Amino acid sequence: MPLSLSVTDARPRFASVVLDVDSTITSLEGIDWLAGLRGDDVAREIAALTDRAMAGEITIESVYAHRLELIKPTRDEVTALGHAYIETVQRGARALCAVLSVAGCDVTLLSGGLRDAIIPLAGYMGIPASRVHAVSVLFDTDGHYVSLAGEQPLATQRGKPAVLHRLALPRPLVMIGDGATDAAVRGISDAFIAYTGVARRPNVVAVADAEAVDFATLHTLLFQL
Ligand SMILES: [Mg+2]
Repeated sequence: MPLSLSVTDARPRFASVVLDVDSTITSLEGIDWLAGLRGDDVAREIAALTDRAMAGEITIESVYAHRLELIKPTRDEVTALGHAYIETVQRGARALCAVLSVAGCDVTLLSGGLRDAIIPLAGYMGIPASRVHAVSVLFDTDGHYVSLAGEQPLATQRGKPAVLHRLALPRPLVMIGDGATDAAVRGISDAFIAYTGVARRPNVVAVADAEAVDFATLHTLLFQL
């Protein structure tokens, strides 16, 4: 008779699971989505900058504020992005986060995206706002974009390792993401998994401990039977 094992028999291999958001939990790049509201020329210019930053060719800080200045997203548009994130959650992502939480694992979102858009997504995923680390921006009283809200480490190239170090999450800890800024946590995290279900970046996969093409694969990697 074959051995029967269910999810409840499996133990998570990590005490903390830290997830990127854009092109990992959701298929969107939030900044590109916002840029798409401004017409083709702005969208193309910003998508090219995002691609080069994600590939590690140029630094995040050199383009981050510049992209937001070009777009000037309103508060309502950032709220709409939050809805779009929820509509484009990767298959199995929400269930995996739930299973990890039930198993006693700390699930944290670590993103270079806009916090105001990620909070609704986190709510949908069952992740409390206190476990969302992202970029805060300021709007004026009419809801128009003003600027980054002071110093925002996650808007910089080395922001993820710096914030992860400061959080001092329970060990062992795994980071999961698609970009160069996610791979930069190696040395701070105990493991790094390249998520390639949305975008596959060879330079990121090359330095990863494992590759997950979807959340079913991720589930297998995160649990041991
Ligand atoms: Mg990403």
